[in-house]
Amino acid sequence: MKWIDKYKKSIFHKLILTVLEKHILSKSTFLRGLQCSKSLYLYKYFIQKRDAVSKEQQAVFNRGNRVGVLAQKLFPGGVDATPAKRSNNLAAVENTKKLIESGVEVIYEAAFQHNQVLAILDILVKKEDKWYAYEVKSSTKVSPTYLMDASLQYWVISNSGVSLADFSLIIINNQYVRNGSVDLNGLFSAKSVLKETINNQSFIEENITRSKSVIDTPAEPDVKIGEHCFSPYSCDFMGTCWKSVPANSIFEITGVKKSELFNLYNAGYKTALQIPEKNELDKNANIHIQAIKKNEAVIDKAAITAFLEKIKYPVFFMDFETFMPAVPLYDKTKPYQHIPFQYSLHYKKTKTSGLEHFEFLAEQHTDPRRAFIEALLKHTESEGTILVYDILMERNVLNGLKKDFPEYASEIELRIDRMVDLVQPFQSRSYYHPSMKNSFSMKNLLPALVPELNYSDLNIGSGSMAMIAYENLNKETDMFKILETRESLLEYCKLDTLAMVKVFEVLESVSK
Ligand code: SF4
Repeated sequence: MKWIDKYKKSIFHKLILTVLEKHILSKSTFLRGLQCSKSLYLYKYFIQKRDAVSKEQQAVFNRGNRVGVLAQKLFPGGVDATPAKRSNNLAAVENTKKLIESGVEVIYEAAFQHNQVLAILDILVKKEDKWYAYEVKSSTKVSPTYLMDASLQYWVISNSGVSLADFSLIIINNQYVRNGSVDLNGLFSAKSVLKETINNQSFIEENITRSKSVIDTPAEPDVKIGEHCFSPYSCDFMGTCWKSVPANSIFEITGVKKSELFNLYNAGYKTALQIPEKNELDKNANIHIQAIKKNEAVIDKAAITAFLEKIKYPVFFMDFETFMPAVPLYDKTKPYQHIPFQYSLHYKKTKTSGLEHFEFLAEQHTDPRRAFIEALLKHTESEGTILVYDILMERNVLNGLKKDFPEYASEIELRIDRMVDLVQPFQSRSYYHPSMKNSFSMKNLLPALVPELNYSDLNIGSGSMAMIAYENLNKETDMFKILETRESLLEYCKLDTLAMVKVFEVLESVSK
């Protein structure tokens, strides 16, 4: 640690022990400490080293907040304990206390503190003189982390003097199908986790003590990078802890258990270059190592030729964009269903003919599905292979549309039958370039195969950003911003299929 970091740390350390008498641990810092004590320490003393929150992560947080507010309607007429200054947690605790004392029976964002551990519960409800706790999650499953989260809250609330008759997690019911206005009792499902939270109490108590001692100890915990950096969440201090991991690290090797890769790394095998020629790794791992060592693509010309023989001109290059609203927006849709709103199609009649381009982008505020499928069927009605990149999503969307619009089912089936997956020669390592790093996304393929094309100049540079942008269009009222976003969406999707055309041409040139 540099002297300046040591100095800053000692100052922060004193401040935390004096100013933060209010609370030392919250639900999120407790869970952080369970994942990794170094992460807790860095968060407390060197928060400035934290990786920036991406737009995608922010969108997930925002969705969680919106779902939380909607779930409050399951218990109408409640009072929100959040103070005017949201960060004033002590005021929130005080507000909650006053609301309980004044006989309020439904409290949103109820805050409690015990032994300098803070917990803010989504909904606290009094029924027949007993208190019930509800924590809302925008997920469709109860995860072990959610159980820990509930267990910590139970510990704080019950030790604050409120005896809980039950503790439930409210999650999203993925079997719910919207029909008319949203039925909150169908959309949400409450699962009691009281038994698990009570069973976890001694574990919680031990780990509160352990986490406090991590914070109290001046030295940074000596924790090496490991599987815990990804589980249960990708740690937001990876930019700090992983910065010394070299290029071509052994973590890019597939077919080996993560734990073994960390053992190798800690034993000094940092890069694929250090792996001996004779090893026990599988074929794919060795293709990767060979490509890294030669610093050039490993190509199986016969396999590529066999793949190309499946493709018949004319060829369509097709890509969909979808969004997945947690709360279904349209009738006959479920939570988190992929709703297609855009496609791009490049078309080549023969190997030597020029490119044509077709596209579709749904109007906002409408159910895009019917217009989407009708336009797509029209644009692809002539014969020829339909190339997609990573077929799963496109096939699932089309299968879903078959059910939603049975009148088009046979036509859609014909399109599915014509689809061929362009990822296949890359995933099978018939064409493997070292810069692919065992990832087969178009974003990794492009710099290696078609460096003149890239997404960096675009306003929207990924499928998840396109998803967020389209969802936001439904709330946007500024016409200029609407037009700008629509333009950016069209540009992005068009580049996706143009990239497929160029990648396909590389395969054709290899096969020659
Ligand atoms: S990156 Fe890994 S080692 Fe570093 S703080 Fe996070 S979990 Fe701990």
